[in-house]
Formats: sequence, structure tokens, C-alpha cells
Amino acid sequence: RASGTPPHDLLERRHRVLAEVQEHYYATPPQIERGWREHLADVDGRVYLDMVNNVASVGHAHPHVVGAATRQLRLLNTNSRFHYGAIAEFAERLAALLPDGLDTVFFVNSGSEATDLAVRLAMASTGRPDIVAMREAYHGWTYASDAVSTSIADNPNALSTRPEWVHTVAAANDYRGEHRGADAARYAPEAVAVIDALAAEGRPPAGFISESYFGNAGGVALPDGYLREVYAAVRRHGGIAISDEVQVGFGRLGEWFWGFQQQDAVPDVVAIAKSIGGGQPVGAVVTSREIADRYRTGGYFFSSTGGSPVSAVIGMAVLDVIERDDLPGNARDVGGHLKRRLEALGELHEIVGRVHGSGLYLGLEFVRDRATLEPATEETAAICARLLELGVVMQPTGDFQNVLKIKPPLVITRESADFFVDALGRVLDTGW
Ligand code: PMP
Repeated sequence: RASGTPPHDLLERRHRVLAEVQEHYYATPPQIERGWREHLADVDGRVYLDMVNNVASVGHAHPHVVGAATRQLRLLNTNSRFHYGAIAEFAERLAALLPDGLDTVFFVNSGSEATDLAVRLAMASTGRPDIVAMREAYHGWTYASDAVSTSIADNPNALSTRPEWVHTVAAANDYRGEHRGADAARYAPEAVAVIDALAAEGRPPAGFISESYFGNAGGVALPDGYLREVYAAVRRHGGIAISDEVQVGFGRLGEWFWGFQQQDAVPDVVAIAKSIGGGQPVGAVVTSREIADRYRTGGYFFSSTGGSPVSAVIGMAVLDVIERDDLPGNARDVGGHLKRRLEALGELHEIVGRVHGSGLYLGLEFVRDRATLEPATEETAAICARLLELGVVMQPTGDFQNVLKIKPPLVITRESADFFVDALGRVLDTGW
């Protein structure tokens, strides 16, 4: 810390100069100065375990990524209309990770841009305006990505203020949604009925968008067969299927590199961001050549820094680490261990409703009553605050902010996972 600059002074300055909606974690947050693997250190040298950082997918300050970025920054960084090797190489590597037919890449800089472009690709390639989206979703803040975002966590008016081209279907959550347990099989036919009804009205949708694994709800798997049925319905009427893989894709689920693989379904357009850049703003949309080519009918596309030399090189370095160190395997092993230990905590503490998720995308849902599922919203905030005191960065998610969103860097060790569960156990044992 520069002498004479207490951290609260910088926090006040942040509040004065930034828009209020540009929030930060915690009322009085530690001022973070550096990161290493799954750890963060503040300006006083206090170390925290970072359990929420799906952006730092390969860990903070990974030397392979730092080295590649530094080298490239010294050589060249420019807009994507120049011809340089990295953009083609990175696009080839990304497309190779996706099923056949998803072979054409657009590079952007964020998840919002990726889902916005995906929605506009659906509109341009079908010549239609209507989009069907799942409720309780977050897809981004740009015009089209915000239009299909319906989570009330940050915007209580989300549903009543969507544009008229957005049509929604129920959040297919088998734990606390409209249909629970075995009844969750009803979500897919109901969503199909919404799509069929739109077509019958003469406005067949351009596309359907959802997360392929319900990340915003804390990592709830969609009911078996859900995406296959809904994708088939939207295609039957000439529309296209969009999978938002921004949070759950890229190896985090452990067993499945992409969320749609868990559903045994293949989308027409995939939106990717966050972990792909390891913290650098990197986003991508991957689709078929045919859909990509029809984009020109409806829009202009040029992203100055999307796929820039530095972004492309960083993207490849991140992918090198994910592949060489088998981070999906680590997500499966450490995530499996973590989930079992969290479930064991649930046997001791009534407040634990369910542990959702797969690999290193887990959600621990707190309820006041296991029968009514009344969300333990204030308790979740207090538990997160107490965890910070014990050295763990953790945040709530979901429409009721009652789910711990557990998505640490994919390099997390079993020891760190144990540290987190031990700290959480202590909080639950001793109160918050
Ligand atoms: N889609 C999903 C599922 C997300 O979780 C987010 C960000 N939380 C976005 C899109 C938007 O990504 P970005 O913040 O990079 O614009």
C-alpha cells in the first residue's frame, strides 16, 4: 500500500467515481493485491482461498499464461482485421473442442457480447424477431443479452420489462421450481408447448437460449432429455438452439467439457467466455458456416479486440494448461470429493437444503425449512461474511441469493477444498 493510503480511502474513491451499479463483493472488502493459483492476498498480506473465481480458470497468475501474454505484448497487439497467426490457430483449437458442424468462430470480448451475438445470429439467420428464453437466467448486460436475462436477483422488474420479442419458459429447476423431483419431466413438454403456440400464432421463434446446466441457480442439472426435446421443437419450426456455456462450459463440470454434453444434446450456436481467457477479456461464438454466413443479412460485425493477438495467445495458453494438466480431470476428482464432503455437512445441518452441481461448479442451497424450501437469504449473506473472516471468498447466487456459488479456479487442490469445507463446517457449527 502506498504510504498514507488506507484501503478505505480507495473504497470511498471507488464509490465516488464509479457508477453505483458497478458493485463490489462485501460491504467492506479486503483490497486484493495479488493472486496465485486458488489464493488471493490483500494489501496487508492476508491470504484468502478464492472459491468463486471461474474467470481465473487456470488459477491466478499462471506462469504459462503470464509468459505467453508478456511475450505477445512485446511483439504485437492490434485489431483483428490484421492478418496474424494466433487468431486462426486459436479458432481452430476452439472449433476442434466442439462437435462436428460447429466449425465457424466469431471472437468477442465477453460473455455478454457472446450471448448478444448468438441471439442476433438466430434472428439474422431465420429472418425472425422472436426468442424463447428460460426464466431465472442471466445472459449479460448488452441490449440483446439483457433482454433474455430474467433473473430477479439484480433486477426485481426483470420479467415485466422484457421487450415483446422475448418469450419465456419456466426455469427447469427440479429442486425449487414449479415442478420438483420426478415432476421435473413436465418442464420440457411445457416449453415445447410455448414454442408450438408461438408457431401456431404465426410467429415461430428465431431461437431458444438457455444455460445448458443451470449455473445461475447454483449448478442445477436440467432434467434428463430437456434440451433434446426443446431443441427439437425449436428446430421443427425452423429456429435455432443456443447454448450459453459462459459459466458452465470449458471443463468446469468435470465429466463434461460442455454443459450440453450432460444433456446429450447438440446446439446450433455456442456462447463462450469467462474461463476461456483466464481473466483476459476473451469471448467467442461458435456455430455452423451456414448460420454464420447468414449473419450479414441482419447485422454488422467487427470486434476491434475480439481475438486480438494478445487475447488469442492468452486463450491458447489457457487451453494448453487445461489440456496438459487435465483440469477437467481435476474438476472431476476434487469436485467429487468436495461435493461428498458438502453433502456430509448437510447431514449435520438442517439449513443445507441440497448440494447441486458437478465437478467444480457446485451450489450449496440454504433453506429455512426443508419441506417448504423457504430460502435462507439473510443467513447465506451472513455465512459468506463469516467465511471471509475465516479466509474464504464465497458469494451467494440464485434468484433468492441463498445458494453458495462454488466455482473455484480449476487448479484447486484437495487440501484447499478441505480448508473450505472445514471453514464452512465451523461457521455452521458455531453460528454466523
Ligand atoms: N452468460 C452467463 C451464464 C453468465 O453467467 C454471464 C456472466 N455472469 C454472462 C453470460 C455475461 O458474461 P460477461 O460478464 O463476461 O459479459
